[in-house]
Amino acid sequence: VHPVYADLPTTIFEEMSGLARQTGAINLGQGFPDDAGPMALRRKAGEALISGTNQYPPMRGLPALRQAVAAHYARTQGLNLDWEDEIVVTSGATEALAAAFLSLISPGDEVVLFQPLYDAYLPMVKRAGGVPKLVRLAPPHWRFDRAMLEAAFSDRTRMVVLNTPLNPAGVVTPDEDLALLAEFCVRHDAIAVCDEVWEAVVFDGRKHRPLIGYPGMRERTVKIGSAGKMFGMTGWKVGFLCAAPDLTRALAGAHQFLTFTTPPNLQEAVAFGLGEPGDWFEAMPAGLQRSRDRLAAGLRDAGFVVLDSGGTYFLNVDLNASGIDEDDRTFALRAVRDHGVASIPVSAFYAEDPVRHILRLCFAKADETLDEGVARLARAR
Ligand code: PMP
Ligand code: GLN
Repeated sequence: VHPVYADLPTTIFEEMSGLARQTGAINLGQGFPDDAGPMALRRKAGEALISGTNQYPPMRGLPALRQAVAAHYARTQGLNLDWEDEIVVTSGATEALAAAFLSLISPGDEVVLFQPLYDAYLPMVKRAGGVPKLVRLAPPHWRFDRAMLEAAFSDRTRMVVLNTPLNPAGVVTPDEDLALLAEFCVRHDAIAVCDEVWEAVVFDGRKHRPLIGYPGMRERTVKIGSAGKMFGMTGWKVGFLCAAPDLTRALAGAHQFLTFTTPPNLQEAVAFGLGEPGDWFEAMPAGLQRSRDRLAAGLRDAGFVVLDSGGTYFLNVDLNASGIDEDDRTFALRAVRDHGVASIPVSAFYAEDPVRHILRLCFAKADETLDEGVARLARAR
């Protein structure tokens, strides 16, 4: 077994969802909505399964989907992407990340990553031979500054990985921080891999700004999206890689031997959803914002200190500030085993020097589920 995988624990999401299934707990842990997703897309996927070819689609993805992705990003983020040369459809953002790391990192290259980090990054970066340089972000603002970037970047920096909106923190990276990061990427001739799977899930009138739109970044950024997150169907695993043609050629080279392609009926359905979204991209975040507010209000009434959430399906509770001195993992395990409510300890998103007093809760759930979750968390305090 390669050393990277030798002692790798099962991901915290699987662990907590497994415990929730075993104990019949309410699952506010792993991030997924508790409904099946928009009916029009499910119907389209079903129709395409019955009447479509079901044979290999083109390696870079169905033209209709790549065109729809380009049009969607032009409309929502002002980007000008060439659907033929600058977009590849992948089997989820996870495959897109793997393709980026495999094709762009050479052994010994330094890769700047921000903690808390989505747990898939580090094993893949290390397996590709990358040397991680971690920047530690902390609550309540989870921001980086010039000194932190100075300490992390060097003349060996090949890549920086940015996730905004940030899972688990729920923060949308502010414009000035993006501009600062762009400055460092240009200065160090580094590639930015931007995990923007939560781009459509932002609240309170915020706008997601893609780093690829910043000066000097168009040629050096790999932008990654996920239809699973855009349409609230996390099991669908349809992702997008967007980058300048030279980068895209390298990414497609890795993609063709990872999965080669992604089920055609799902691609057709996502193309349809992006092409005829109706008010989805306003109504979906508005609904989630109401759920966020309901969960936050319930938790505050129960005496918990809740951090701001500007995007994603998640809000965070500060356990220490709420008067609980257990660490996050101990509290989370006790809550799921003894009180029937699953959550995610944020320490699982740190590879070193973890923040241990923050608990992540998923609010993409029905009101009754959120209310019952609050009642159970209140009993766990
Ligand atoms: N990156 C982040 C930050 C995520 O939160 C997730 C899933 N929640 C992914 C990547 C994986 O996306 P996908 O399911 O499209 O592979
Ligand atoms: N991204 C999801 C979350 O943060 C989990 C994805 C997974 O289970 N791998 O909850």
